[in-house]
Amino acid sequence: MDANRIERALVIGAGTMGHGIAHVLAMCGIEARLADVSQGAVDAGLAKVRANLQKGVERGKLTQEQRDGTLARLSGWTDNAAAAMGVQVVIEAVPEKLALKRQILGDLGGKLGPDVLLATNTSSLSIADIAEAVPHPERVTGMHFFNPVHLMKLVEVVRAPKSSDGAVALSVALAVRLGKEPITVRDTPGFASSRLGIAIGMEAIRMVEEEVASPEDIDKAMTLGYGFPMGPLRLTDLVGLDVRLSIAEYLASTLGPRFEPPKLLRDMVTQGHLGQKNGRGFYHWDT
Ligand code: NAD
Repeated sequence: MDANRIERALVIGAGTMGHGIAHVLAMCGIEARLADVSQGAVDAGLAKVRANLQKGVERGKLTQEQRDGTLARLSGWTDNAAAAMGVQVVIEAVPEKLALKRQILGDLGGKLGPDVLLATNTSSLSIADIAEAVPHPERVTGMHFFNPVHLMKLVEVVRAPKSSDGAVALSVALAVRLGKEPITVRDTPGFASSRLGIAIGMEAIRMVEEEVASPEDIDKAMTLGYGFPMGPLRLTDLVGLDVRLSIAEYLASTLGPRFEPPKLLRDMVTQGHLGQKNGRGFYHWDT
């Protein structure tokens, strides 16, 4: 299928990532359905899209017509199967739990035609393990967006062993249509982005542990010395120490002990230092 002919898409999960993915789909002329088990999450997701579009208008990045047109193409749903009728693409953005993703895409895969692209926004799980539960696994790919989706350029398109050339090409072309820069990555733990990000993040935490320098100075080494937009410790605070710990544990179990999380990270998570979300991490945050 030609990505320019996609008229309707379903995003499952209206949380941090789902609302942003629905936003960019609707922005580029696609009717975007945003579905969640919780009506509250749907309402909150749609409200965030409205607020982000409004900010775009205030900053002169968008016209009022673009804002209104985008909102007119967006709708909220609480029934995944009903919302999936007539779509050409499904992008799943529910929590990072293999069984849940398998169940949702497996269910929909049985109801939708074999040419409907089923993409998952997982940040680390094996696409092959998800696709195994789906009839016609060749139409399953990873489309890994970044937060905040309406601003971040990268989409990692992940090819599983059974993904068809057509499904991968459509995922790449859809990312381009959404104004993103796609990269194509083989289905391996952590893909390209999480694997490298965690490697640097874990080493930075080991350096704090060994008192090489303060968190501020370690971050400055990377921002001023290497041109990173943000240092690895500040980024760990933004993502959440608990989230990074679970990704590191998954990578250690699949790729080996070089990803083993440092004791300091485990201790901080046990003590409830989760980063920006609760105000305590490598930095102090006002909550
Ligand atoms: P989130 O917790 O903010 O949102 C998930 C939403 O899914 C919730 O609103 C929840 O109610 C909903 N949900 C749960 N079960 C559902 C079901 N059966 N049907 C429909 N909706 C259901 O999660 P998130 O941070 O948006 O992450 C979603 C996915 O994106 C995860 O796989 C995560 O690893 C990945 N990801 C997250 C980030 C990030 O920065 N948060 C970045 C890239 C990728």
